[in-house]
Amino acid sequence: MQKGQIGVTSENIFPIIKKFLYSEQEIFLRELVSNATDATQKVKALSRKGEITGDLGNLTIRVKVDKEAKTITISDQGIGMTAEEIEKYINQIAFTGANDFLDKYKDSIDAIIGHFGLGFYSSFMVAEKVEIITKSYKEDSKAAKWSCDGSPNYSIEETEKESRGTDIILYIDEESKEYLEDSKIKGLLEKYCKFLPIEIGFGKEKEWKDEKQVDTDKDVIINDINPLWKQKPADLKDEDYMAFYKKLYPASFEDPLFHIHLNVDYPFNLSGILYFPRLRSNLEFQKNKIQLFSNQVFVTDSVENIVSDFLTLLHGVIDSPDIPLNVSRSYLQGDSNVRKIASHITKKVSAKLSEIFKENREDFEKKWDDLRMFIQYGMLSDEKFYDRSKDFFLFKNTENKYFTLEEYRKIVEANQTDKDKNLIILYATNLIEQYKFVEDAKAKGYDILLLDGQLDSHFLNHFEGKQENVKFTRVDSDVVDNLVRKEDKVATELSKETQEELTPIFESQSAMSVGSMSFWVQYEALNETEMPVVITQSEHMRRMKEMGKLGGAEAKFYNNLPDNYSLVINTNHSIIKQIIEEKETAIGDKLKEYYGNETALNSDLEAINNLTKDKKEEEISQEEKDKKSELEGKINDLKTEKTTALKDYGKENKLVKQVIDLALLANNLLKGADLTKFVRRSVQFIER
Ligand code: ADP
Repeated sequence: MQKGQIGVTSENIFPIIKKFLYSEQEIFLRELVSNATDATQKVKALSRKGEITGDLGNLTIRVKVDKEAKTITISDQGIGMTAEEIEKYINQIAFTGANDFLDKYKDSIDAIIGHFGLGFYSSFMVAEKVEIITKSYKEDSKAAKWSCDGSPNYSIEETEKESRGTDIILYIDEESKEYLEDSKIKGLLEKYCKFLPIEIGFGKEKEWKDEKQVDTDKDVIINDINPLWKQKPADLKDEDYMAFYKKLYPASFEDPLFHIHLNVDYPFNLSGILYFPRLRSNLEFQKNKIQLFSNQVFVTDSVENIVSDFLTLLHGVIDSPDIPLNVSRSYLQGDSNVRKIASHITKKVSAKLSEIFKENREDFEKKWDDLRMFIQYGMLSDEKFYDRSKDFFLFKNTENKYFTLEEYRKIVEANQTDKDKNLIILYATNLIEQYKFVEDAKAKGYDILLLDGQLDSHFLNHFEGKQENVKFTRVDSDVVDNLVRKEDKVATELSKETQEELTPIFESQSAMSVGSMSFWVQYEALNETEMPVVITQSEHMRRMKEMGKLGGAEAKFYNNLPDNYSLVINTNHSIIKQIIEEKETAIGDKLKEYYGNETALNSDLEAINNLTKDKKEEEISQEEKDKKSELEGKINDLKTEKTTALKDYGKENKLVKQVIDLALLANNLLKGADLTKFVRRSVQFIER
């Protein structure tokens, strides 16, 4: 027996490995099975070249757990190693990389395993002792047994082994007992080795014999050695892709919309299949994630740092040996291969969409509602994707017809261009809640889009920023005549005095302070056939609040804003005229008295002002000063008194209540107790 020290300068590397890699302990199995796969593939390659002759035998890699002996054994029929090769590959090489790594990244937790040749040594994360029993394919080579207990000391000796290949035996340590459960190992093999190119056997098929279940000779194979993404697209049918999708995501019951088969050899190596899922709402909830492989070995299902954010919404697999494994996340983003791969995928995704749009518009439209959110997310987060997608981005109108912006422009341009040459695109977000406004706009000959998606308000903002002279306006953001302003606003004929009297009457209503809503009374000379009162909400404010709901830096600020509405009083409406008349009859005399008193006080104040206007501050007598402030006080009191009188009158005014409630009702804002009161009051009105 020969003894020696592993070529490592650090006192003891294993505790470091254990500590650094603790969080990713389970990858030891992936590393060992990958090594076994490599060794087996080399045998196949040598046989093809004629360097190994004869039958290769069964090449299945077997993983065995012996709970009693506390071991896990990974056996392959690969090329094996001679004692010299163990010296070279296990004792020396593996650690040169490790030393470099430790020097460079002493303080970094993100360890580099496969990359620096730490693959095999990751077994010490779970084992207190590791043995290699191996026999090289080379003629007349002797089997060797290497053993190491986790200190830098190892032993190597000759041993007996029948056949070519390697057994790696892990003596699992006390803290890692969980890996001695069959179910645990089965789970790991299914996670990491499901698509490895060499068959992996774990356990044996069973059969009934003498009323007992017994093992047969047949291995239970856990992997699919020829996964779909490695096959030629020309040989595959849609059904094959659908079946593979089910295999990837067994718990999924919805079929994807379509797929892309990726296949690149140069300048980087990339294969894979991406599926477009149906996405209608809720971006957060992403169960089926893209799985990243490296030569069919599963690496991770968090690809956030590899592809553009929005592409993580896709499902499927990406396989590329050119994506460095087990390196820190920030390193990945800076890697030039990774960047090239990411941009290639983005390009392929938009090319696929564009192809369907051009070649099968009908199909594209059919899938649009399920695709829209994905495309919007892409356009919002990736400038290049925006540019590639803007020409096939579709808008759907309330008639369920789909248009690109340019197609739509041609249709609405004549009728919906405002005085400032802006194309006003009208939209609704809820056809039931905004029914009245949609109908009014249609009656005016306008076309209305349906924009009811979660990302729409964000998207509209972004889109407006990119398109000159295009403005999106929700149908209820103003009275219909003002939606597309053709000329400057005409002032209402209602006198300022009457407006000032009406405002407190309307503001007196309890409906005006419901929850977080706040109202701003405005006057417009609308059509007589329009409602007496119309409630609108400014496009800008509403959109800001909606965006706030989706989160982001300013979210809190916008969320705390009240819901501001305009209460537009139609001064041409007969009911408004009636309200003005009734007010005259009821409190007209009282108001006249106020005005009379106010005029008198105002002229007294004017007189004093005239007297003092040329005097310097110190020349004005105390008497004059007192008089002046007394008059100002009285005028103020009078105004307050007037407002209070108007409010008292308004509060009890059923007609005012009724027209406000009708407007609230038309906007779906009248609810609960207020709605019940409205219904009761309406009955009284009918009875009258
Ligand atoms: P890497 O696989 O990244 O080269 P490892 O530490 O996992 O690093 O393995 C070091 C070397 O040991 C391998 O390159 C290979 O030459 C040899 N080796 C490991 N496992 C086996 C095996 N099962 N059969 C044959 N050779 C192996």
